[in-house]
Amino acid sequence: TTRVMEALALSRRPLRLPVSLSRASYDVVIGTDLISRAGGLLAPVLPQKNAIIITDNNVAPLYLQKLEDSLHETGVRTRSLRVTPGEQSKCLTIYQHLTDAILEQGVERRTTIIALGGGVVGDLAGFVAATTLRGLPFVQIPTTLLSQVDSSVGGKTGINTRWGKNLLGAFHQPLCVLADVTTLSTLPRRELVAGYAEIVKSGLIGDPALFDWCEKHGAAVLDQEPEALAEAVRQACAFKARVVAGDEREEQKSNGRALLNLGHTFGHALEAELGYDGRLLHGEAVSIGLHLAFALSVRLGLCPAEDQIRVTQHLENLSMPTHIRDLPQTFAVDDLMAHMQRDKKMQDGRLSFVLAHGIGRAFTTQDVPADAVREILIADGA
Ligand code: NAD
Ligand code: MG
Repeated sequence: TTRVMEALALSRRPLRLPVSLSRASYDVVIGTDLISRAGGLLAPVLPQKNAIIITDNNVAPLYLQKLEDSLHETGVRTRSLRVTPGEQSKCLTIYQHLTDAILEQGVERRTTIIALGGGVVGDLAGFVAATTLRGLPFVQIPTTLLSQVDSSVGGKTGINTRWGKNLLGAFHQPLCVLADVTTLSTLPRRELVAGYAEIVKSGLIGDPALFDWCEKHGAAVLDQEPEALAEAVRQACAFKARVVAGDEREEQKSNGRALLNLGHTFGHALEAELGYDGRLLHGEAVSIGLHLAFALSVRLGLCPAEDQIRVTQHLENLSMPTHIRDLPQTFAVDDLMAHMQRDKKMQDGRLSFVLAHGIGRAFTTQDVPADAVREILIADGA
């Protein structure tokens, strides 16, 4: 019954996590059934009772009507624009289509852009908001676990170009983020797992209590228990908010936001090798990358082996991918090395990495011997 009581308390009163930045601060509101209460929750922050909702064709049939109904109840007028789901929509063509549609129907400087969807919609709609009329008010309603714990906090928006991912973008902080964990009940399990990898990553970087919590409650998160989801989102957002507040525009060379790339150098190489075609989700690549980053830290004598074993065991207990040999594809060591060297500009046979002295003790280094990286990849099945 305690659990039922907790769930009831959660549904009535959402958690509010303040994100404090130098020029503005806003709340990440976390809870259940927030979309059906969006009108009341957003009324105090919208500068005008007028909003344009940007969403995708998977999310629209599930949640758009509910959001519009709730906004209309408080007198907020809305229109909506939909894009095709998937990373390909984060492009100039769709950006132009959206800004044309917004400008064609006329828009005032105080009209709010609301992103309803995963990280793709958030990044795209955020960039539209950042640039249209030099900046429109913006609200995020993230509907994937990844977007609730990662992309909706920190203010980065942007689109991809033929030269690479996220190369056109802007920092644009939202007025408010509504993380409605109820929406995660319709998310495919693979997408849930991918978001969970970023939560584990947060613990491993600098919040050992969060990693302990994951060991105890990770299974409940992946079973989509609302209290566990809300708690995981709260802790991971709080962690990211702390990192972002210390390094708002990613100006610190070491530590700061750079630490958020733990597991990502290996992960990006695996993703790039498969051409970002959906066979390997970003978070799945990060899961393998976390294992490899700890294995490399142990190999270099920087981290106790017990910590690496704990990390890998946790990921494996939840049936997350941890080894390159777990994947159906084969990878050539030279190709993976080439990606990492391009990604990180190798100097004198040494690579930049985020490594760890232990769980919750990540650090950046520019001094990793390429040979050690190669050995780790071979040992893992490349
Ligand atoms: P996504 O937005 O593509 O969503 C994944 C899939 O789930 C899509 O098919 C989507 O339509 C569907 N979906 C979304 N919500 C759903 C729901 N509640 N029920 C059922 N289906 C749903 O992917 P993502 O993982 O959320 O985000 C990935 C993007 O985020 C990448 O483009 C990445 O670059 C970006 N990102 C940005 C930041 C940042 O700081 N801005 C950080 C991390 C990632
Ligand atoms: Mg990531």
